[in-house]
Amino acid sequence: MKEKILQLIKDFEQRKATVSTKEEVEALRLDFIGKKGLITLLMQDFRNVPAEEKREIGMLINEAKQNVESSVAELKEKIEEEELNKKLESEPRIDCTLPVKTGTGALSPRTILQKQIVDMFVSMGFTIEDGNEIETEYNNFDAVNVPASHPARDMQDTFWLDNGEVLKTQTSAAQNRILRTHGPKCRVLFPGRCFRNESLDATHENTFFQIEGVVVDENVSVANLIYFMKEMLKGVFKKDVNVRLRPGFFPFTEPSFELDATCPLCAGKGCGACSHTGWMELCPCGMIHPNVLREAGIDPDKYNGFAFGLGFDRLVMIKTGLDDIRHLNGGNVKLLKQYGTKI
Ligand SMILES: [Zn+2]
Repeated sequence: MKEKILQLIKDFEQRKATVSTKEEVEALRLDFIGKKGLITLLMQDFRNVPAEEKREIGMLINEAKQNVESSVAELKEKIEEEELNKKLESEPRIDCTLPVKTGTGALSPRTILQKQIVDMFVSMGFTIEDGNEIETEYNNFDAVNVPASHPARDMQDTFWLDNGEVLKTQTSAAQNRILRTHGPKCRVLFPGRCFRNESLDATHENTFFQIEGVVVDENVSVANLIYFMKEMLKGVFKKDVNVRLRPGFFPFTEPSFELDATCPLCAGKGCGACSHTGWMELCPCGMIHPNVLREAGIDPDKYNGFAFGLGFDRLVMIKTGLDDIRHLNGGNVKLLKQYGTKI
């Protein structure tokens, strides 16, 4: 028995020197101290050892077993460390001690101006809401008085999803939900990202921003609409800006208007930016169509209101002098930083 044990220890040492993978270590462990391992079998034979040898043999077996256990653990640790080192060697290195040269980022001029406008409307008692970017066909069109047969649908080159929903083409897509949530007496502003399948050029983007506002109450008038618009423009351009309304046509308002502002760059004298007219087209607006109110569960005989949809990117471009809308969605930090400071 004693010879057997000593031989096993020798065998183990020899095998130990040859293993180099985790799998081989595990095989070695199973061969010696697994359920049917050589040392395990020896221990089962232990009862046949004569009583006078039991003490010595017992100690030997235990020592052998402990030696295998600790050797296996050591081998495993060593191999894991080697594997980790190999992995680290093969991966690209990052030198954390190199100085950072990129500097800090900057908010987009769009973000800065939106915050200013939001703050202004909040001070005038408006609640700010957010809209979904994926909307149902009902919310985007039907609920704002644009049924399937309406020609206005064709004017909005829409991204349709396979499930029949759409990437919202206008912030008005949130109107029905907002009117239902806030009820007939409300002032709500909801900025949002909109999407249309436009051919891209300096003034058209497939992803653009609008800021929409609705006011519903008893006896709301066009004069109220003009007041809020003038206040907003005064806040944005830090001076009084004249506005004018031209008749327009939008399915969700009746009457509908195009709101123009005196060109803030030439103060109405005429310049390249305003095509020498002295006016800049700023936002479609009007009194909310009774059908839209009715669809949102509001009685149009008792309540009325106005809505406006500010072409926000255009306002950012006027404010910054940026001549291409595509820059606003680009990631050119240098450029955005430069224009951001002009706001
Ligand atoms: Zn001008």
